[in-house]
Amino acid sequence: MKYIGPHVSIAGGVENAPLNAHRIGATGFGMFTKNQKQWSAKPLSPESITAFRDNLKACGYAPEAVLVHDSYLINLGNRDPEKWEKSVNAFIDELNRVEQLGLSMLNFHPGAHLKLYSEEDCLKRIAEGMNRAIEKTETAVLVIENTAGQGSAMGWHFDHLARLIELCDEPSRVGVCLDTCHMFAAGYDIRTPEVFENTFEYIKRTVGFNRLMGMHINDAKSELDSRVDRHHSLGQGNIGWEAFEMIASDSRFDGIPLVLETIDDTIWPQEIEHLKKSAGF
Ligand SMILES: [Zn+2]
Ligand SMILES: [Zn+2]
Repeated sequence: MKYIGPHVSIAGGVENAPLNAHRIGATGFGMFTKNQKQWSAKPLSPESITAFRDNLKACGYAPEAVLVHDSYLINLGNRDPEKWEKSVNAFIDELNRVEQLGLSMLNFHPGAHLKLYSEEDCLKRIAEGMNRAIEKTETAVLVIENTAGQGSAMGWHFDHLARLIELCDEPSRVGVCLDTCHMFAAGYDIRTPEVFENTFEYIKRTVGFNRLMGMHINDAKSELDSRVDRHHSLGQGNIGWEAFEMIASDSRFDGIPLVLETIDDTIWPQEIEHLKKSAGF
């Protein structure tokens, strides 16, 4: 089973996310659980939590078909102790919300060193934050997303992801989400069957397929190895449809959310339909 769908809106309450996904034929989806541009949010109300769980079930989504994304403000790699503390606390709150909703995963960008210290020290700092968060929460899996490597963002190299997994005290609570646009911008080509296989072979050796908990399916406005994060609609960017068709038809990507973060929501139904067809729905 392929869980295919976009990152949907939670306007009006988190309980609307499953409905928004279902309306456009999605078999899985991504979502925030709060405003992603703010540090704090009101706790989820018991009514909202119940409505979310009911809607999820009514629309036929398993919890593992949903990938929650955390706030953009969180930087677990921040060297500044106060700012790091703030990020870790916000991250723990995000994990709590995931657990309250009966979901299983939180997708996050590892963090940035802001040119204040070395990459290795930054990775250790991020892992320290992850370990703290794991200790303070129960079940949610921390899903590290690869980045485009814009600015001082860590996580663009697959070795960064492997190192974070290695530094983590509780391997069963850690996974990886691969964003195709970020991959491409970071220099990993997937445009033809040959390079696609090479890239995923490298991922298998560094991160391991057993760690793959989700993907972000985005085409790229940015060029290969540009380290610029600019998403595009599928087939309209520099990656092209062939790569996305290969993902959709490959059983290694079964049973994990394949989330569209593409820029034109008016064509999401067509993008979903195309991927579903390639997946053999
Ligand atoms: Zn992404
Ligand atoms: Zn991106």
